[in-house]
Amino acid sequence: MASPSVMQLSSLSRRSLSTRAQLVRSARPLRSSGFSQQSFQRSTRRTYADAASAPAPKPQKRFRFLRWSWRLTWLTGVGMIGALGYSIYEQRNPIEQFDVDPTKKTLVILGTGWGSVSLLKKLDTENYNVVVISPRNYFLFTPLLPSCTTGLIEHRSIMEPIRNILRVKKANVKFYEAEATKIDYEKRVVLISDDSEIKGDISHTEVPFDMLVVGVGAENATFGIKGVKENSCFLKEVGDAQKIRKRIMDCVETAMFKDQTEEEVKRLLHMVVVGGGPTGVEFAGELQDFFEDDLKKWIPDIQKHFKVTLVEALPNVLPMFSKQLIDYTESTFKEEAISIRTKTMVKNVTDKHIEAEITNPDGTKELETIPYGLLVWATGNAVRGVVRDLMNQLPAQKNSRRGLAVNEYLVVNGTENVWAVGDCAVTNYAPTAQVAGQEGAFLARLFNTMAKTEAVENDLKALSVAQSEAKNDEDRNQIFDEIRERQRQLRRTKQIGPFQYSHQGSLAYIGKERAVADISWLSGNIASGGTMTYLFWRSAYLSMCFSSRNRVLVAVDWIKAKLFGRDVSRE
Ligand code: FAD
Ligand code: NAD
Repeated sequence: MASPSVMQLSSLSRRSLSTRAQLVRSARPLRSSGFSQQSFQRSTRRTYADAASAPAPKPQKRFRFLRWSWRLTWLTGVGMIGALGYSIYEQRNPIEQFDVDPTKKTLVILGTGWGSVSLLKKLDTENYNVVVISPRNYFLFTPLLPSCTTGLIEHRSIMEPIRNILRVKKANVKFYEAEATKIDYEKRVVLISDDSEIKGDISHTEVPFDMLVVGVGAENATFGIKGVKENSCFLKEVGDAQKIRKRIMDCVETAMFKDQTEEEVKRLLHMVVVGGGPTGVEFAGELQDFFEDDLKKWIPDIQKHFKVTLVEALPNVLPMFSKQLIDYTESTFKEEAISIRTKTMVKNVTDKHIEAEITNPDGTKELETIPYGLLVWATGNAVRGVVRDLMNQLPAQKNSRRGLAVNEYLVVNGTENVWAVGDCAVTNYAPTAQVAGQEGAFLARLFNTMAKTEAVENDLKALSVAQSEAKNDEDRNQIFDEIRERQRQLRRTKQIGPFQYSHQGSLAYIGKERAVADISWLSGNIASGGTMTYLFWRSAYLSMCFSSRNRVLVAVDWIKAKLFGRDVSRE
């Protein structure tokens, strides 16, 4: 049974809102100060009597605002938890899929990166027999890959299995974990090879296509510099991040080996990053954080010699960012004790040194040998072999150097049924995830429209036959109306414009819980850097993660690292 005081309070609550507000205000200190129930009742009665005789106070706008804010926050929280729960449920309980009519066109998609996956996400798979081919059976959220090199984020948190993505499509999609070794444009087939450890009786075969999307990305540029492939680590794939993580700890533990000379300790603890683009800068920042937050705490003996150096051939790092952000990055690196060597071009790499050509302020050049323990090579993109081979088959690609030249609908020049997206295509835009994602989404719209157009055109053909065979005028007129409606529909669906990229801005993490951002705003640009930008960077990338699962895992990794630090074990 409710206590009298509670009953009194509830009867009061029916009278007036303002009186209740006053009562609650007067009751609150009593409850918190641990008064007896009688004194609480006496107090509420007295307050009620006072309130009844006193003129009703004006509703306080300030509190009303707070009350509504609280309600809104509460409702938003409930809504977000509901949406998360529903999306997890949807992901865990995929619907039954149906097989596509085998007479429909075969659409082959190469790759499971940003371009191909954003195409798959929006594609109506019931319109085509879709076949996806990639040596990687997952999508990788590359913007957070540098954080995996130090164990801030576990690599599985930024991977989304391609099977999860394909299984939730309405119609069945085939996936082959294989590498496309050749695209034979004349024969309209893709030759594929299973390069995984376990092979069945068949590990090479060919897949015919009616339509082909090439989204194989790019490989690491080495510019043919000797020793790069053999001695350095790249940073493009999950395996690369794992290799770097292991090597950092290997260098540290080897430097601590008994009787190691000081010179060797210095070399082993010298972490060199070649390439001052966003990949190199973000990795250098993450590595210095790892040292500052964890390594020097658990292995204090490395403190004296641990050093991160960023080597860049151009006069400054991050050339795609505005001048003030370049300056901000360079000054932050100085604060973090990351040394930047600009105008330094690496020419040769051995297992223990790099040889670099330095341009002095007076324009003279000299060669310098820089010893290293860990070398991370991040000098941008080069064309993949399979793409180069396709370019060689097409005379229209003769003048293209950086990848497949495409038209404004992303059709590969010199073909009529091959499209290219992402880093393997040459457009007017930088090779970024943002561009690849928008290109993929554009192709999905294009293909969905093409399928709709084809269906309407088939309907039109059938209707014109029916019209010519109609028995009377009334039937003929009715069919004619339908034809007009279908023609209108056709005009509407055919109105798809060329691909247009909308730049949302560039973001990069620079270490010490700071980030830089060049954000497009209306027709201008906002440049910002610092801790607030870092919080924006984190929330932007968290919201951009592929799935709710990824979002939760990444957030948990961040919390874990904050509470317990990064793991300094070698595996
Ligand atoms: P990818 O995403 O590289 O995918 C290529 C796919 O093709 C992969 O699945 C691969 O396995 C597959 N493939 C390869 N060879 C074959 C073959 N022979 N046959 C079939 N499949 C094949 N961009 C941003 O906009 N913002 C960022 O913050 C950002 N951060 C980055 C951080 C790092 C560390 C790196 C390396 C890149 C970053 N980028 C960022 C750039 C971005 O990742 C790329 O521009 C983007 O991945 C390009 O997408 P894509 O689909 O062309 O290629
Ligand atoms: P990049 O092409 O942007 O930069 C490579 C850098 O390496 C260049 O500045 C180049 O001058 C330098 N370099 C080349 N050869 C050298 C040599 N021999 N010695 C010294 N320096 C040398 O490469 P990246 O950073 O790997 O980025 C690749 C693409 O991915 C870019 O389009 C980039 O915008 C995108 N990306 C974006 C982000 C982000 O937005 N946060 C992060 C990573 C990558």
